[in-house]
Amino acid sequence: MKILITGGAGFIGSHLAERHLDLGDEVYIIDDLSTGSIANIQHLKIHPQFTYHIDSVTNTHLMAELVDLCDVIYHLAAAVGVRLIMDSPVRTIETNIRCTEIVLELAETKRKRVLITSTSEVYGKREQVPFREDDDMVWGPTNKSRWSYACSKAIDEFLAIAYWKERKVPTVIARLFNTVGPRQIGQYGMVIPNFVTQALTGADITVFGDGSQSRCFTHVNDAVNALVGIAAHPEANGEVYNVGGTHEVTILELAERIKQMTGSHSPIVFIPYSTAYEAGFEDMVRRVPDITKVNKLIGYEPTVSLQAGLESIIEDQRARLRKRGVLVRV
Ligand code: UDP
Repeated sequence: MKILITGGAGFIGSHLAERHLDLGDEVYIIDDLSTGSIANIQHLKIHPQFTYHIDSVTNTHLMAELVDLCDVIYHLAAAVGVRLIMDSPVRTIETNIRCTEIVLELAETKRKRVLITSTSEVYGKREQVPFREDDDMVWGPTNKSRWSYACSKAIDEFLAIAYWKERKVPTVIARLFNTVGPRQIGQYGMVIPNFVTQALTGADITVFGDGSQSRCFTHVNDAVNALVGIAAHPEANGEVYNVGGTHEVTILELAERIKQMTGSHSPIVFIPYSTAYEAGFEDMVRRVPDITKVNKLIGYEPTVSLQAGLESIIEDQRARLRKRGVLVRV
């Protein structure tokens, strides 16, 4: 099969590309390197079945060629990460909506199958967990930039479902819950790479708020298992699937665990949300997926424990920091 991955040089996209190459597929990626990096695909560049384009999804001529060529499109290109969203709300809203429109329009012309990656962020401030795909979403007001991410991804979902319902374009949506693993960087706010880098370099481990907020982290290998299974399933059209881990951990427990696993002497410090982000910032208190639907479809279960995931991330960050000549604790 021929696979197109938008955002293929990103953290998740590069792992997905690798998996499809292992499955014997031809993989085409397009990435403008806004948050992805060549380093993520360096090892794939020599693979005879791998083709990469450093370009934007908004280059519709190139995208038309690629969509025409490929059997399945994974649309991962998006503005991601709370830090990026707070700093660049225009870019977030425009990138997320415009790129998805382009992908779906082209998929319709060429009648190609599309998997759109969405996010657990769409559930917003909802307090009852676990979150089910058909639960109501609860967002804050439009003057709080954070919610533009949830809203822009929800528009993507509405659009993908509409393309299936109205125009019979085979689309499916995966809502990813805090995907983590090697190659993820902390630059855009993601907590685990931030904590690991802080612990390894002796910097303060910065817990935002009081650390009682919790998340269910999903190892990228598990996320990729789910994406490949969902994209291939003939009955998934027009449906939304949660893809997540089920082990809930508070952010303070996470900081303590990373400190202990790295043998770090870094102090754990508490930073008010107003300092970390902006005055009035609203966090999600808990984020727990109900994975019954994806389990029924493809038998998905998380397989990588938080402990094993953290080990793989610590090892990856150590290697990266050493390469940059940064002093790393052993
Ligand atoms: N967080 C933190 N310190 C950091 C980065 C994030 O305490 O250096 C917190 C953040 O406020 C949130 C949680 O960790 O409660 C997960 O943050 P992330 O940005 O990774 O994902 P999301 O907020 O999208 O779940």
